[in-house]
Amino acid sequence: MVGPAPVWEAQRMKNRTFDDVVQIIKPDTDSQYRLRPCSCGSSEVVYAQYAGPGGGLLWRVVCTDCGATVDLQTDVRHDVQLEWNGRNNHG
Ligand SMILES: [Zn+2]
Repeated sequence: MVGPAPVWEAQRMKNRTFDDVVQIIKPDTDSQYRLRPCSCGSSEVVYAQYAGPGGGLLWRVVCTDCGATVDLQTDVRHDVQLEWNGRNNHG
């Protein structure tokens, strides 16, 4: 597990209207939280934790290159991981 993404990356995401993001985590490729490369070919795929409408912190997966996103409105990171990795299995 690596630390939070560089500030420039967070800023770039904010410019994509991810202004509710409180934390960005880019998992190692051998992490249990690893994410498959995006269908755009980028491996710059990260978890973004953000403040949900109910006040809790929710997770989404975002490709910081093309902006592809999986957002299930869930606070269970494993769920968005499975959705992202599963979706990309189907191309
Ligand atoms: Zn992408």
